[in-house]
Formats: sequence, C-alpha cells, structure tokens
Amino acid sequence: MSHRARKRFGQNFLIDDSVIQDIMAAVAPQPGQRLVEIGPGTGALTRRLLACTDELHVVEIDRDLVARLQHEFAGTSLHIHQADALKFDFRELARQAGGPLRIIGNLPYNISTPLLFHLMAVSDCIVDMHFMLQKEVVARIGAPPGNKQYGKLSLMVQARCDVQILFDVPPAAFRPAPEVMSSVFRCVPHRVAPVTISDFSRFERVVTAAFAQRRKTLRNNLKNLVSADGFQAAGIDASRRAEELSLVEFARLASFVVEESL
Ligand code: SAM
Repeated sequence: MSHRARKRFGQNFLIDDSVIQDIMAAVAPQPGQRLVEIGPGTGALTRRLLACTDELHVVEIDRDLVARLQHEFAGTSLHIHQADALKFDFRELARQAGGPLRIIGNLPYNISTPLLFHLMAVSDCIVDMHFMLQKEVVARIGAPPGNKQYGKLSLMVQARCDVQILFDVPPAAFRPAPEVMSSVFRCVPHRVAPVTISDFSRFERVVTAAFAQRRKTLRNNLKNLVSADGFQAAGIDASRRAEELSLVEFARLASFVVEESL
C-alpha cells in the first residue's frame, strides 16, 4: 500500500535504518513501560517500538495512515488513536494506562511549538520524551542564556524539563526529504524543579513580553508588567536584555508582575 505524503500534516517519513536504530538506542524501551508515539506515519519507528514493549499507543491524525496501521498491526497489542495530538488528552491516557508515559516521535514540524507547549502542560505525567524536529528549533529549545537562540521556547521547555540534544539527521534520511537538517533530542521533566513557578501563565506572559523586541531593555519591554520597584525588589537590573536573564531570574521577575496588568 503506497501513501502520498501530505505536506499539511508535515509528513516526512524516515527511510534510513541507521537513524531509526540510533533513535531506538536513545529511547532504549523496556518491557512494562507505557510508550506513546506521536505521528507513527507508515510505522518506521512503530514496528521497532512494538518489538520492545507490550504497551504502545500511537496518536495519528491522518485517517489513511490510521487505516494502513490498523491493517498492518491487526492482532497485535498496538493501541491506535486517530486524533490530533494538539488536542489529545495525554493526562487521561496516563491515568488509564496506570502511570506516567514515555513519549516518542518524529514530529510534524509544522506544529512543533504548540505541540511542545501542549506537552509541557502535562509534563507531570511524562517520564521522558524523545523527539525529532528541525535542527534550528531544537537549538532554540536547548539554548542557554546569552545564546542567540535563547528565547521563549527555551524557557518554556527548560522550566519543566532537562533538555539534551542528541544527534543531527540529514534530509536524505527522509522521504520526501525536508529542506532543513533535523535533530533528535531528549526532554526529561524535572523531578525536583530548579525553580518554583507558582503561576505558569504569568511566567509565560513575562517571558513573551520580555522577548517581544530582543534588542530592547527589560525596562522597555516590560513597562506594562513590572514597575521600577518590582525590578528592584526582584534584584534585577532593568537595563539588561531578556536574553541575558536565567530561568531563575525570569521566575523571580514573574512574581513581581503588577497585579492590575494581569
Ligand atoms: N513517524 C513517522 C516516520 O518517522 O516515518 C512519520 C513522521 S512524519 C514527520 C509526522 C507524522 O505525524 C505523520 O504521520 C503525520 O500524519 C502525523 N501528524 C501530523 N500532524 C499531526 C497531529 N496534529 N496529530 C497527530 N499526528 C499528526
């Protein structure tokens, strides 16, 4: 059964067996673990994952691919969810499965940021995540303060997870070949948070505003959110730029947001 790749679903299928093996080695799935693959596509990773575990769930939006998976994996223990991963309730799946999930995926690149944000909100029911995305996006996810790539995506992910960038994958490993390099990375939700963030929506607001104009100072970007007294109380120099601030400093600043601005 052939399948014509759909651009709107970000379909670039893995065809390089050595890359599939490298991903499997990074995930190292064990029997008894609750695995979830986002976007199984034609099953390149699914087949290998299913060989290592008795509990594998896949979340796929494309009905044609779901039909193909149902056909190929009939009679196996694969649980196929025909759903949009952006709306999928991973918390409910973890509850039904009886514990936290390991999530894997060669993700659709066109929804990478909203999908990561959706997963970060349920990071407490995730053991770890192994994903492939565009190299440029992965660099942003893992970037430290002071780096040109450091920004909202880095902070929103690093506030919840430890990030490790594992290896790069060239366009030739996929069919059709994407235009850009890709990277595989691991995200492990913090067991002990490096910082206390009591209100994530407030934290996100401060981070978004602080990076609105990268070259401007915090005083300028946050003028509607943090007063001069707030900066002083947080012990943060308002003439600094967002890209210089650590996660801990952003969390501190978020607790001094003026209430009326919320
Ligand atoms: N895992 C396969 C592989 O490595 O060959 C396919 C990867 S392909 C980059 C992305 C997959 O995600 C496709 O199968 C696509 O249909 C699926 N997909 C796209 N958007 C999705 C969404 N919102 N929810 C669930 N699956 C989605």
